[in-house]
Amino acid sequence: MGLPDITAAIAAAESAAGRAAGSTQLIAVSKVQPLDRVVSVLNAGHRLFGENYVQEAFAKWPDLRAQFGPVSVHMIGPLQTNKAKQAMALFDAIHSVDRPSLAEKLARLAQDQGTCPKLFVQVNTGVEPQKAGVLPDALDSFVATARAMDLPLEGLMCIPPEGADPAPHFAMLRAMAARNGLSGLSMGMSSDFATAIAHGATHVRVGSAIFGDRIYA
Ligand SMILES: *Cc1c(COP(=O)(O)O)cnc(C)c1O
Repeated sequence: MGLPDITAAIAAAESAAGRAAGSTQLIAVSKVQPLDRVVSVLNAGHRLFGENYVQEAFAKWPDLRAQFGPVSVHMIGPLQTNKAKQAMALFDAIHSVDRPSLAEKLARLAQDQGTCPKLFVQVNTGVEPQKAGVLPDALDSFVATARAMDLPLEGLMCIPPEGADPAPHFAMLRAMAARNGLSGLSMGMSSDFATAIAHGATHVRVGSAIFGDRIYA
């Protein structure tokens, strides 16, 4: 695998689903990857990346942006409320809005600063106790609350349960987005991005299939 293979597989999945070429954005998930792998994907011309940790992203992206020019970086990992201000300064989008306290904090900061990254609400489609995300039953009211705070909601995000067929989770997320008038669907990772595209994903988050296995210290 690697960037060209993934780009080709995305184009094939779009075509198979009868979708417009280029209608899926590829977020290259660079968390924990060695810098040389990230640089080679930048050198290949890719300009949209995903990170899970605020501190790691700050250690990497200000320098890389100075070197390579504008690069979009999306926060896809759990966000602590006390890191929200830092996160807003670095990221172009946050895919992990998952609780009222975080929404309130983001709204306050957005009001102060007059600007806010695009936001995705993370939904715990599998109702897993250990997983972040708004529960499906609470989603519509959460979206209404976030809108009342003037937060710029772009869409929904999910991570299906490990080992489960992801298709019903993607279908559920799509239905929830449609009934809430949200166009963004952040779903699909290395193992299931083609299925996600068949279900309407607008953003796929692909890490190891582009960069190779993550090497945790
Ligand atoms: C790490 C991560 C990914 C990428 O996972 P791969 O299996 O390496 O493609 C996608 N989404 C989230 C939320 C992640 O934490």
